[in-house]
Amino acid sequence: MEINDLESMKKQIISDLESIKTESDINKLNSQFRKYTKSLYSELKGISSENEKKNFGKLINDFRSEIERLIENKKSKFKDDNASNEYDPYIFNPSIKIGNSHPLIKLYKKMEKFFINLGFSIVQGPEIELDRYNFEKLNMPAFHPARDMQDTFYVMSPKVLLRSHTSSVQIRSLETMELPLSIISPGTVYRVDDIDAQHTPMFYQVEGLVVGEGVSFAHLKYVLISLLKETFGNSTDVRFRPTYYPYTEPSAAIDMSCPKCNKKGCRLCSQAGWITVLGSGMVHPKVLEDVNVDSEKYTGFAFGLGLNRLAMIYFGMSEIKKFYENDISIWNQL
Ligand SMILES: [Zn+2]
Repeated sequence: MEINDLESMKKQIISDLESIKTESDINKLNSQFRKYTKSLYSELKGISSENEKKNFGKLINDFRSEIERLIENKKSKFKDDNASNEYDPYIFNPSIKIGNSHPLIKLYKKMEKFFINLGFSIVQGPEIELDRYNFEKLNMPAFHPARDMQDTFYVMSPKVLLRSHTSSVQIRSLETMELPLSIISPGTVYRVDDIDAQHTPMFYQVEGLVVGEGVSFAHLKYVLISLLKETFGNSTDVRFRPTYYPYTEPSAAIDMSCPKCNKKGCRLCSQAGWITVLGSGMVHPKVLEDVNVDSEKYTGFAFGLGLNRLAMIYFGMSEIKKFYENDISIWNQL
């Protein structure tokens, strides 16, 4: 073995490495190289002169460590290349279809903007709720018949349930926030309802609550009439009908003129010309007293709207379940 042999072998390996295109070719080259160094070491054993042995040994070691380093470099370069091939966030794939906002979100955002402009805060409450917040503290004790209209799903009967309305957030806010307060709270609610054109066991509500000194029914009317006119247009008529909720007194159901037929009567409004869209009322003094708010000093109003129902009217959809079918062709039209 001559030094020149080693040098030419080194050149050969370097040029091979340069032209290599796959990881398996590197592995092949690596095993050939190992075989070759092995043969060099066995050759080394046959050298009798100690001095010569020492020099040659050093040459082999240098040669080996240099080539090993080059092979490792090449290998890590492949790894980097492969890693970048796996996922490149900068490559634009024209086959990817950009989605669209869900109609419920679109309508909610529009209304949220209205409330934020009036100085309302947005708060959230839990969907798994205590009976205490969902019913009891809203003036619906265990025996109250109004509970029947809001039959829900129990996580741990009888105390833990899926909230049947967002009104539970009223109590949570009154317990934790300072007065005066004005909040809205959007979220999912649950009822034991069979699926039909108007009902699903899960739907969305937006709750509202304003409590402070001197808050009156006039404030309630201003906020909710403005909301409906802002959402459905200035020509929308709004009427208030007396109704009953255990946690408000007086209570009012709010109807708006049918945006499709303008009070003439059509399928959307079941020929009535009007559509009920909100429940509202002045917060019952008992509800305030139960959370240690002085009902002589403070008054408030509350409202709840069914987002799905409002969105069906807003977008002219006939079935509530369409909201959950995620049909992008429908979303793109809305
Ligand atoms: Zn109509």
